[in-house]
Amino acid sequence: MSERIGIIGGGIVGIALARALVRRGLGEVTVFEKEGRLAAHQTGHNSGVVHAGLYYKPGSLKAQLCVAGRDAIRDFCQEKGLPYREVGKLVVAVDESELAALADIEQRARANGVPDLVRIDDAAHLRSLEPHVAGVAAVHSPHTAVVDYAAITDAMADDVRAAGGAILLGEEVVAMQLEGAAVRVRTQLSEHVFDRVIACAGLHSDVVARLVGADPSPKILPFRGEYWSLNPDRNGLVTGMIYPVPDPRFPFLGVHFTRGVYDDIHVGPNAVPALAREGYRWLTVSPKDTWDSLRWPGAGALAKQHWRMGVDEISGSLLKPLYYRKARRFIPELRMSDLTAKTAAGVRAQAWGRDGALLDDFDVDQVGPVTLLRNAPSPAATSSMAIADYVIDRYVYAQA
Ligand SMILES: Cc1cc2nc3c(=O)[nH]c(=O)nc-3n(C[C@H](O)[C@H](O)[C@H](O)COP(=O)(O)OP(=O)(O)OC[C@H]3O[C@@H](n4cnc5c(N)ncnc54)[C@H](O)[C@@H]3O)c2cc1C
Repeated sequence: MSERIGIIGGGIVGIALARALVRRGLGEVTVFEKEGRLAAHQTGHNSGVVHAGLYYKPGSLKAQLCVAGRDAIRDFCQEKGLPYREVGKLVVAVDESELAALADIEQRARANGVPDLVRIDDAAHLRSLEPHVAGVAAVHSPHTAVVDYAAITDAMADDVRAAGGAILLGEEVVAMQLEGAAVRVRTQLSEHVFDRVIACAGLHSDVVARLVGADPSPKILPFRGEYWSLNPDRNGLVTGMIYPVPDPRFPFLGVHFTRGVYDDIHVGPNAVPALAREGYRWLTVSPKDTWDSLRWPGAGALAKQHWRMGVDEISGSLLKPLYYRKARRFIPELRMSDLTAKTAAGVRAQAWGRDGALLDDFDVDQVGPVTLLRNAPSPAATSSMAIADYVIDRYVYAQA
């Protein structure tokens, strides 16, 4: 008899897993998504970048799966006729103080096999790629691309349905019970029994993990990233992507300029604590989510380590001139009026341990027949198809 497999979460990771399972003929797949559409959270609210693998610690899951995943996403877009644009990325050191960190990024990028990486040490070369940028050095990744991850998720979902998989929208998994070797799954509308379940619940991954009695750690700390748009008549200021040299103490990449797949230019995202798991605005507050974060054992340690960065990010979110000042470091010609109102935001599901440390790498956990993705932040959209293969081979069918 064919295996019955349940998947919780209709973001790009859950749908990539469903597609890989049905294509490999591994079982009858049912996906549960609590919203009325796919890609409703992180997958539909991100920068749309197909990362080439510059930043990640060599040998880490992020490094391995980003490199494999970017090629798979490129091939999938080609196969389905979806937009995939290699607009290229510059990581720019604005002054000498950033050169050491830039050298680290270059070293990591080379170790990770980022193709055709170029080190740039003179302003003329820099300006031949981005005529309006200011900086003393940079690394250029010409194959870093932009895509529409929501469209990719929908196209993968079409493949799942065509192969007989079921995708149930508007069904939130509210309970799971282990029954011998099987798992009973309950949503607010229906009840099912599966041989295996894989949870890819993004911002709710710790909540879903607790349904099967998994360790509450790592918990999810929601970090909102807010974007400003560049006025279309100033789109000429940016050719591809312009990124800062990231702060190695923090798992986010810093405010950057990205030419999106539809030629819109966005500036961001910043990283501010969200006051609800799906808190896309300051005014969306969940007292429970906020209280749960504040009383988490690692809260004090995190606050102690990152309070300065936190104050800086929050003030930049509330006061446009401060956000503008960060962006202008890279493009001195930028005027404050070039940034239109905040147009979009996404909330990152960042896993956070009891000790207050933010988990850097992807993280997977297993409780009997239930496999739990506990940390799948950026570059998990880029890596989604490779994460799917990895999870199936290493966890779901490791013993098969
Ligand atoms: C601001 C921002 C910028 C980013 N930029 C990039 C980028 O440029 N490139 C990149 O590679 N990555 C980027 N990322 C990261 C990337 O978006 C995520 O890593 C990726 O989308 C994770 O996919 P997912 O399927 O795990 O999660 P999600 O897309 O969040 O999907 C999880 C789904 O699970 C559903 N769910 C939760 N609980 C339940 C339940 N109980 N029952 C049923 N359904 C449930 C949710 O509704 C949701 O749809 C960015 C993220 C953010 C927030």
